[in-house]
Amino acid sequence: MRAVTDDATTARVTAGFGRHFVVEDTSGVGRVATRRGKRGDITVGDQVQLTLGASGQAVIEAALPRASVLMRAEGTREKTLAANIDQIAIVFAARPGFNPHFVWRALLAAHGAHIGALAILNKNDLPDLAEASAFLAQLAALGHTTLAISAKLGADQAKGALLPFLRDRNTLLVGQSGMGKSTLLNLLVPDAGARTQELSLRLNLGKQTTSSSRWFRLPEGGGLVDSPGFQSFGLRHLDQRALAAALPEFARVAGQCRFLDCQHLEEPDCAVRAALERREVDPARYAFYRQLMTELRG
Ligand code: GDP
Ligand code: ZN
Repeated sequence: MRAVTDDATTARVTAGFGRHFVVEDTSGVGRVATRRGKRGDITVGDQVQLTLGASGQAVIEAALPRASVLMRAEGTREKTLAANIDQIAIVFAARPGFNPHFVWRALLAAHGAHIGALAILNKNDLPDLAEASAFLAQLAALGHTTLAISAKLGADQAKGALLPFLRDRNTLLVGQSGMGKSTLLNLLVPDAGARTQELSLRLNLGKQTTSSSRWFRLPEGGGLVDSPGFQSFGLRHLDQRALAAALPEFARVAGQCRFLDCQHLEEPDCAVRAALERREVDPARYAFYRQLMTELRG
């Protein structure tokens, strides 16, 4: 492998297709670059050093150290969602119906990556919001940052509410399909659709869509990363021993368990299970915890 030369430029990876990547320099100029040799070590959001190959083709020589990396598991495979993200914005809506576990899992992924999170209830123009609003209120009571918006019918208001959280930060957007993630992305990055089209033309992708995340510059400063659609947010890469500490209502009482290493499963004098009996821990959250304890690595 060639050494990184002095004239190497630094760029941000904004999309990836196998060994081909789209990179953007600091002025926003995009180009296609290939990764020589190694595979699988570059992800969207990485800052990389480029050199120009003999044919004028940009070559990724090295990736700079990451401030953070976000992963999810799919079965036994671990997939990288993005690097250098400051926070996850999790979008959900009352319709077509959301899975609370998806939201809780995304919050745990953020916690595990030592980054922030923002839970967004979209489509707050819909009637019959009771269940979704109660879910959002529970998240707020747990100490999470929450927002309720209508990306479609209250676009200006939604933008105004979101920008203070998004400006000058790098945010990964996640959500089950149908929650309004694309609507939100297009609201915040008005040329997102056009840029995606331009990219597939340039890379000859036709109608084939990418399974990787896409990085967009936020006009107000910062980055917004669209994640590919997925249903399962596997967390098996997280440490089972750190799980209770990542659930605020568990962490609050866990210090009072009889055993220091209590797993809050069958142990006697468990303060978490006592809180569950008093309904200070939501049974649905406890069931979620038990499910994750069997999923995460021991
Ligand atoms: P995605 O699959 O998460 O990217 O969702 P889309 O952005 O494609 O939106 C799914 C559907 O929900 C579309 O029909 C949107 O028009 C609609 N939608 C998005 N945001 C809102 C909203 O705030 N209110 C309502 N009522 N519908 C919305
Ligand atoms: Zn316990």
